[in-house]
Amino acid sequence: MKFKTLSVHAGQRLDPQTGALTTPLYQSSTFSYFTAEEGKARFSGQNPGFIYSRFANPTTAELELKLAAMEGADEALVVASGMAAVSAIMYALADSGDEVAFVDPLYGGTDAFLKQTLVRAGITISRYGSDQELLDNISPATRVVLFETVTNPNLKVIDPRKVVAAAKKVGAVTVCDNTFLTPYLLRPLELGVDLVMHSGTKYLGGHGDIIAGVVAGRSELMAKVRTVALKHIGSPIGPQEAYLLQRGVKTLPLRMDAHLHNAGKVAEFLDAHPGVKKVIYPGLASHPGHQVLGEVSRGFGGMVSIELEGGFEACARFLDKLELFTQAVSLGDLESLACHPASTTHAAMSGEARAAAGVSDDLVRLSIGVEDADDLIADLKQALQD
Ligand SMILES: *Cc1c(COP(=O)(O)O)cnc(C)c1O
Repeated sequence: MKFKTLSVHAGQRLDPQTGALTTPLYQSSTFSYFTAEEGKARFSGQNPGFIYSRFANPTTAELELKLAAMEGADEALVVASGMAAVSAIMYALADSGDEVAFVDPLYGGTDAFLKQTLVRAGITISRYGSDQELLDNISPATRVVLFETVTNPNLKVIDPRKVVAAAKKVGAVTVCDNTFLTPYLLRPLELGVDLVMHSGTKYLGGHGDIIAGVVAGRSELMAKVRTVALKHIGSPIGPQEAYLLQRGVKTLPLRMDAHLHNAGKVAEFLDAHPGVKKVIYPGLASHPGHQVLGEVSRGFGGMVSIELEGGFEACARFLDKLELFTQAVSLGDLESLACHPASTTHAAMSGEARAAAGVSDDLVRLSIGVEDADDLIADLKQALQD
């Protein structure tokens, strides 16, 4: 089946008891097993029935089937947040003495987790400045390689094919944070990536009302990640959030088409505006990653970043004048959002690390929503006026 059909139908069955069309919300912590013998069978895995919502929940289980189909994965796991996903992946796949490599930059929270917390497990973190640098210099001790296809917040394009080739040289597992593109635009597993993860909070949820994380991939890797995420770290998603996520995911293709359309129009407008120093949007032919992303992805995403001359003060003047765009972190919502990463999402990084990752004080990140493009452009235009 095609992607739009999968988003609506995959993983969903009519409720056998009531015929309910949509996945029911099973708001229950525990599931009774009627006889002691059955309890024994459930714990040994002989009976696949539900036990306890930290291990598995029927609402979440249907959502996981849908997401696995959308990613082209054997299996998907839904957890409490994107950070719960990344931490479970790392603790499941890296041991003390191993090296975890990443292509700079990463989401600020992921960067902080690797450098401040994962290192305490005796794991070495190695930074590579680009996909090419990784391919040329990957260390043989590397066990896991983490990257984002379109990086946050400066929208650099990392070629998943190069990361896969680099990892192959040393037998490392590749992990792609696909939050910015979603499986509608890019399915990393089809390019040989081992695990794909998301902040489900963003485009997958799409309505700015939940925090969620997703991991998908081959069964043997997923089994390890599932055990660590749910049984050891203990970060299941709540059934209510799972319900809202499955509801959001059904309209992912429709929303992404609207985000793409608007982002293209906004980028074109900003590119022609003399008050904008630089427009960073992979959909512009001038973007260094334009061709690569065009080859692997069905679209260029809904995020547009710009640089304004004059650092924090100039950006603050622009942000404070915006009326339709809301100043907030997060992205992928129906509403257009704007933020200044250097003073917010990436403030925890040192100035040096920010400079190396290309997060300058002049940078403003725009998450382009699904409003009418003309209204968004009018708002940007008035905010750029002196
Ligand atoms: C938001 C985000 C995360 C973290 O996800 P949470 O749901 O906030 O925990 C990870 N990676 C990227 C690219 C993100 O945008």
